[in-house]
Amino acid sequence: KKCNITIFGGGNGAHVLSGLSSDVINANVTVVDTFQDEAERWTKAMAENGFTVKYGGGNDLVQAAGKPKFTVTKEVQKNVVNADVVILCMPAFLHEMVLTSVAPHVPETCPIVGLPGQPGFEYQALYHLRENGKKGSVVSIETLPWACRISKYGQEVDVIGTKECIYYSLVDQQTSGYFGAGLVQLVQTLLGAKPVLKREENIIKYTFLYRPTVHPPLMYAKWKNWDGKPLDAAPLFYQGADDEAVKYLDGATNEMIKIADFLQTKYPDMDFSGISSMQDCFIGEYPEQIKDKSTLLTCLKTNQAYDGLVHPMKKTEDGKFIPDFKYRYLMEDVPYGLLIIKQIAEMADFPTPIIDEIILWAQTKLDAEYLKDGKLCFVDRKRGRIPMAFGIKTLDEFVNFCK
Ligand code: NAD
Repeated sequence: KKCNITIFGGGNGAHVLSGLSSDVINANVTVVDTFQDEAERWTKAMAENGFTVKYGGGNDLVQAAGKPKFTVTKEVQKNVVNADVVILCMPAFLHEMVLTSVAPHVPETCPIVGLPGQPGFEYQALYHLRENGKKGSVVSIETLPWACRISKYGQEVDVIGTKECIYYSLVDQQTSGYFGAGLVQLVQTLLGAKPVLKREENIIKYTFLYRPTVHPPLMYAKWKNWDGKPLDAAPLFYQGADDEAVKYLDGATNEMIKIADFLQTKYPDMDFSGISSMQDCFIGEYPEQIKDKSTLLTCLKTNQAYDGLVHPMKKTEDGKFIPDFKYRYLMEDVPYGLLIIKQIAEMADFPTPIIDEIILWAQTKLDAEYLKDGKLCFVDRKRGRIPMAFGIKTLDEFVNFCK
């Protein structure tokens, strides 16, 4: 029997995933893209010009014009009722909208996969499934398997890099259909040999491993004293770091490590090991590319993998540059990362002065109020993913919810 796979999304990652998974024998892939006229554009482009996932070096995956192996549509309900697996492949701020429209219609045991899920996806997806009496499993994959960019919409996507190994978390609610190891094996088959999917059992630790303590501190250190004047060029993001950047990068990360150490004493049966310092983390990820590993600052400045990576900027009318505070470095990593760490810290009764300082600045750029008088405010589910928005107010509730 064919496996009905419904992919939600229409961006870079969704292009790669659709191409790869529809190439798998017995996978019947439908892409649901509700955004603007993307579904029509994608369908038309693919019919006229075929569909290519470009790796270069003769390894491209090509589907010929007029013979697409998957369909793209705007219709949600029709393509969800018979799904064996639903995969969300989109930025995290869209998850609430999609889960709200999907959960009432999925079969009772249909699993939901966040690819990527990013911190908090587990309880958000479980919340929507349970609200609708559904028992599907939830898989959250930490990040997108590829660095990728669409070169021609609906027709061609470039894979710039593929990760070696990525973590996922899994919550099983039932024992029929696709669940557990079989479900993960299916996702692995869709992705191919790489990246290798590795399970992280501890949901709280999984949230820490995502490291929302990289982008927001670097943004904060660079722009907190910005005078508002446009720049002639975009500054380097990692290689342009200075002592101030290190102070916040290390500061926020060390607060996270301290919370993990505390949780280890509170929950001795859960494993919180291996949440390394920022410096060790960079060295672990780029063992070959970092030329001078002596300090965190030299790791940032001499990492060749970061050559040319600049701050997210917008162009002004006269060709100058201003920072783009709505880019995912703040827009995703604060409401779908740092705020979750902040609530875990609050639930553990742990102060986080540096993380607070970063959130207080970031919220002015994101036009939201997340922190007030040192306390986390309630955040609407459409604008963030803090546990309390899903009824989780204590650490025990957090751990038990994701079981
Ligand atoms: P993307 O930026 O390509 O997503 C854009 C797509 O999202 C649009 O094409 C549209 O289909 C949908 N969309 C945007 N706004 C919408 C709206 N208001 N309503 C409905 N749909 C809307 O995303 P991506 O590059 O595929 O990345 C997916 C996730 O993976 C993101 O969280 C990203 O940060 C992360 N990520 C991406 C890369 C990469 O190389 N692309 C690498 C690592 C992690």
